[in-house]
Amino acid sequence: MLDIEVLEGDITTLKVDAIVNAANCSLLGGGGVDGAIHRAAGPELLQACIPLNGCATGGAKITPGFRLPAMFVIHTPGPVYRDGRHGEPTLLASCYQNCLKLAEENNCASIAFPAISTGVYGYPWAEAAAIAVREVREYPAQKVKKVIFCCFGNDMAGIYREALQKAE
Ligand code: ADP
Repeated sequence: MLDIEVLEGDITTLKVDAIVNAANCSLLGGGGVDGAIHRAAGPELLQACIPLNGCATGGAKITPGFRLPAMFVIHTPGPVYRDGRHGEPTLLASCYQNCLKLAEENNCASIAFPAISTGVYGYPWAEAAAIAVREVREYPAQKVKKVIFCCFGNDMAGIYREALQKAE
């Protein structure tokens, strides 16, 4: 059984096998959680990202975590939300699927996700949380045993808890 937990806090402090970075397609750093992860991991992270040549929206690429307590960072560019009719739900679902796939391939037992696309990319919070919960619950995980939804702030944590309850 997959253990799913909602945690409020800063994802860069979590000692898990992998943390997910809500990156942009350049994979060269940015604001929000991306900036926080690069600051905490140290400059080696950017050096590791440069040769990856970016990433498509909905895709995922993995690097070491360097100075982070997490062993790996899985970078995934979420969709920019326009109106929900430009493939955003499918692309956001694909972020979760591809991150979990990489976690499995790299023998990760624990992974923490931020609320991908819900910052500057503008995805409505409850809709994004419902997709996150659905994709994690439906993923045929074998090695991944624990998933943390790391929420920045109490409001987001509440939305995730509600999404989890609805899915039960
Ligand atoms: P995106 O471009 O995918 O919208 P953002 O970084 O702007 O990415 O926001 C994604 C989510 O990450 C937002 O809900 C934001 O509040 C949250 N966030 C920002 N900093 C952190 C952090 N240090 N730990 C966890 N979540 C964070």
